[in-house]
Amino acid sequence: MLSFDPDKIDIPEGNFIGGEYLKMKEGSLAVNRPSDGKTYASLSEAGINDVDDAVNIAENARQQSGWSACSPRERGAVMRRWADLIEQDSEYLGQLEAAGSTRPVTEVMQHEIPFTAAAIRFYGECADKFSGDLVPTASHSLGMIIPEPYGVVGAITPWNFPLSMASWKCGPALAAGNAVVLKPSELTPFSTARMAELAVRAGIPAGVLNIVQGRGHLTGSALVKHPLVRKVSFTGSTATGARIMSDAAMHGMKPVTLELGGKSPQLVFDDAGDPQAIALRIFRGFTANGGQACVAGTRLIIQRGIAPAVTDHLIRLCRQVTPGNTWLESSRYSPLIDQRQGEKVAGIVALARQQGAEVLAGGERFDATGEGWFYQPTLLSRVNAGNCAVQEEIFGPVLTLQLFDDEEEGLALCRHEIYGLCAGVHTSNLAVAMRAIKSLDAGTVWVNRYGRSGDFIIPTGGFMGSGIGKDLGKQAFQACQRQKSVLIDF
Ligand code: NAD
Repeated sequence: MLSFDPDKIDIPEGNFIGGEYLKMKEGSLAVNRPSDGKTYASLSEAGINDVDDAVNIAENARQQSGWSACSPRERGAVMRRWADLIEQDSEYLGQLEAAGSTRPVTEVMQHEIPFTAAAIRFYGECADKFSGDLVPTASHSLGMIIPEPYGVVGAITPWNFPLSMASWKCGPALAAGNAVVLKPSELTPFSTARMAELAVRAGIPAGVLNIVQGRGHLTGSALVKHPLVRKVSFTGSTATGARIMSDAAMHGMKPVTLELGGKSPQLVFDDAGDPQAIALRIFRGFTANGGQACVAGTRLIIQRGIAPAVTDHLIRLCRQVTPGNTWLESSRYSPLIDQRQGEKVAGIVALARQQGAEVLAGGERFDATGEGWFYQPTLLSRVNAGNCAVQEEIFGPVLTLQLFDDEEEGLALCRHEIYGLCAGVHTSNLAVAMRAIKSLDAGTVWVNRYGRSGDFIIPTGGFMGSGIGKDLGKQAFQACQRQKSVLIDF
């Protein structure tokens, strides 16, 4: 397939509850395509009563179908079948994703679909690998720690990687025996609903995975506050994460996993290697998905010796980019999600300039891209630590450049008051790399690379304002279970 006509796709109804697509009674919302800004569908929004129905259905389904009680091995087999179906459905699922999100179809087919299936398969394989503990006790009682599912997990995801974010939430929660009610972003709702339909076809009992659609303050908030939702797993902005954590505490003291924003540094030392290769790594790190990635490496902190060569290559790479609709095979560059995001990016760049930044490349919206908001890859130099482009998560393709002379100065520039999601360190000196790893406030540190590329065994998650807990790895699976302590006297 690859290139396709976005006006010819069948759009599923977005709410998938109890194993069927349902239209809600609440209002409907227009859904726009990022590439051309055109309204291509509407979703019916789940109100408080609809969310209540979905959560009750989930709770009943997990108990009555035996999903929570069945052997983990059986659950794992069904989930692996689900992963197979996601791959087999890649043409339709890929079209839904590429038409409605910011990801070009080539990336969707090469990364988003395979990584989504692989994450589900990974958790299918985890399902029977972790058991509880039998512990020696001082009182000679039989001591056990038994992991068990929470019940219904409420999951809320952002718009930037709709399918893979859903797989990171559903995979561990379902494998651990929970039911899930997931609310995707109202901006990219449809591919997730199709993914849930495939789960039922694979044998996950109807009602165990449900998708509710709507805006955060209405549908999302009702989900977080529902008394039968026993754990909340959220990915999105730091501001929303704080609200959700507070709601989860006020409505049942629910545990939360929060994957939030970032402003990640790329620390490059003079001995890092070939400037052209480094520039390409940095470029991909801040332009992937149009910079709309929580892990985007948006602060280049570079030692003075290697800086001119890397900067020259970066400027050339930025100037080579051409925009194109996400449904065309030739497109490699993502639009911003919508006009609001476009105006936000443009506004921060304008303010950064007023605060003294110099634009080395980009700095404008691409011409002639219709209603889509394609923003040029942008390099800003002469920024001090207080510049808004250094401080704020822009969520667009904007890189700031800061120079340093010695290691201590470079590490100091990496610090950020709010965020601690990821960091890249580029050096051929292992001792320098180890000191940086120790010093950086970052949930993930990549050395001489940038990005995860499908290693699901390594968890991801931020420090400080970038979040609490981890997605992926066995850590996410174990965080979807509560631990029951048992002492037995005979
Ligand atoms: P957002 O916080 O605006 O929305 C995320 C989700 O939360 C959406 O589904 C939204 O409808 C919902 N929501 C909003 N208000 C809510 C409320 N009061 N109660 C319940 N739900 C609510 O984020 P976004 O703009 O969709 O996504 C971009 C953000 O996500 C960026 O900050 C990015 O860094 C972050 N992100 C983080 C990771 C990570 O793994 N750390 C991954 C992807 C995106």
